[in-house]
Amino acid sequence: MLSVIIPAYNEQENIENTEKVISGILEKAGIEYEMIFVDDGSSDSTWEIIDRLTDKNPSVRGLHFSRNFGKEGAIFAGLRRCTGDCAVVIDCDLQHPPELIPEMVKLHEQGFEVVEAVKASRGKESFVYKIFAKWFYGIMKKSSNVDLDRASDFKLMDRKVIDALNDLPERITFFRALSSWVGFKSTKIEFEVAPRNAGTTKWKFGKLVSFALNNITSFTNFPMQLVTALGMIFFVFAVILGIQSLVRFFSGTAQEGFTTVYLVILLAASMIMIGLGVIGYYMSKIYEEIKFRPRYIVSIDTKDKERKENNAANGENG
Ligand code: UDP
Ligand code: MG
Repeated sequence: MLSVIIPAYNEQENIENTEKVISGILEKAGIEYEMIFVDDGSSDSTWEIIDRLTDKNPSVRGLHFSRNFGKEGAIFAGLRRCTGDCAVVIDCDLQHPPELIPEMVKLHEQGFEVVEAVKASRGKESFVYKIFAKWFYGIMKKSSNVDLDRASDFKLMDRKVIDALNDLPERITFFRALSSWVGFKSTKIEFEVAPRNAGTTKWKFGKLVSFALNNITSFTNFPMQLVTALGMIFFVFAVILGIQSLVRFFSGTAQEGFTTVYLVILLAASMIMIGLGVIGYYMSKIYEEIKFRPRYIVSIDTKDKERKENNAANGENG
């Protein structure tokens, strides 16, 4: 059986259509499936719609978060609770073409344990976003050897991979990179990013920046090494300047005025502060990790509801 995991945050315009399209494709291809909508604490009627769908289509299951925990949490909740032999993660807005799923399943049957759908091109994005993405993926690739430029969250994973991901103890995760970090026999297929079906993108600029910083720091120590490297460069500079000042002092040609002194102090102080900031950022990540808080809290699982109803019908108490 195939599990389709769909994170949804304020997607009331999309849920019904997405369910119809995906179930249509899978039924036509004769693929046995369960469809898990993970409602990431939406504030619109997303959950009511999902809940209604579960009555209509028994293959649909809904998970409801107690608040918005982010797409990562939603994906991992789906992976944790899915029961299929393999699972596909797909966006709710049909930007990931579901027509590819049967092809991905076929590749899985051929023995591939991870089937990654990569973007043929990066689709329509604003100028700022493009620069930002380029910078972010550049750092990621240089420092951790994970090529993410065209990667997406649209992937099929074998049960072995799902279990490996579920066994990872860390809380701050980056699904897109982790699924290649765990290894396994993988292949890629290309897709064109479709425009959003309805609604607007759920990313705000601030959220995107914090997402990028999170992922960089959870995958590489490069920024910390950068601080050390800058420190060394600065040290060389300081030695040269020091020698020069001493020579001038002893030869009696020392400069009056404090321009150099000011500059050096300002530069040194800013470097120290940046360095402390970077270290502080990693420390805050360590702090977050060791609190061992869950990545998400599921407040309703429609499967539990079913079980309770069945138990009640059989005269047991839930
Ligand atoms: N999403 C989520 N939680 C969030 C933000 C987004 O579950 O906090 C889901 C959203 O419902 C969608 C997917 O993640 O199914 C991708 O979001 P979106 O389309 O807004 O991002 P984009 O395609 O613009 O990168
Ligand atoms: Mg989208």
